[in-house]
Amino acid sequence: MTIKENKKRKPNGYWTTERCIAEAGKYGAKEAFKKGSGSAYQASHKFGLLDDLFENVNKTWTEATVLEEASKYTSQAQLRKYANNCYKAAARLGVLKALYSYTPVTTADDNLWTQGLKTCSVCEEVKPADQYGKHKGGSYGLRAMCKACRAAYRVTTREARAAYQKNYYEDNKALLVAHSSINSARKRSGLEDSELFGGGTFQEAVVWTMPFVEQRLKLQEETGELHHIDHIVPLKAGGLHVPSNLQVLTAKANTEKLLEDMVLVSQYKEEQSH
Ligand SMILES: [Zn+2]
Repeated sequence: MTIKENKKRKPNGYWTTERCIAEAGKYGAKEAFKKGSGSAYQASHKFGLLDDLFENVNKTWTEATVLEEASKYTSQAQLRKYANNCYKAAARLGVLKALYSYTPVTTADDNLWTQGLKTCSVCEEVKPADQYGKHKGGSYGLRAMCKACRAAYRVTTREARAAYQKNYYEDNKALLVAHSSINSARKRSGLEDSELFGGGTFQEAVVWTMPFVEQRLKLQEETGELHHIDHIVPLKAGGLHVPSNLQVLTAKANTEKLLEDMVLVSQYKEEQSH
């Protein structure tokens, strides 16, 4: 069986190396190539390709030799075009699909990371993982900048952060004081939130503590005298952190109430023990 050359004569310069390789792929042997596609054969000869082109033809293909040859190409289509015998052998051996199956592209970063290394986003030095702070959202769970760069960064931004914190405190003073006074009440009472807040939640307690805090801060500013938020019935005497049990007192008045409170606490303990 022979394959006839295309009737039309190819223009001069048509047979490039690439076209010769593709054309030769259609033939199983040099002689058939010569017969079937004379001008391509001549051009291949001129390029010194001829021996290479048919080197693979009579080869007994194994998986190893298929893999070796296939590695010169990047797709099945290329393999089919330029190394048809190898392509057919690959199909025969059942490895064709696996040859160019997708493997994820690993970045330079990923390659470094396999060695436990990461590039700092600031100094751009490659450093071991322990030179980075942990950071949940960061790549590989680490911060983008190395510890040294981060320390330097923290120094240069220290004043800005301090100013920010001061502003934050000033802007949210009442809220922060409410939180801290509720947390202190939690500690002193030892009760569960729902009981301590009379069935309310922490957020509800914040809401009803705020007016007392605001009143306390306002009085302090107006009088220059320290004020406290007091639990009318002390927490240790079964009092709750609810609006009806809160009042704002001067620190002095609160100290004077202390004796009264202690009596209530001991009465309460007495009752509890019976
Ligand atoms: Zn760095």
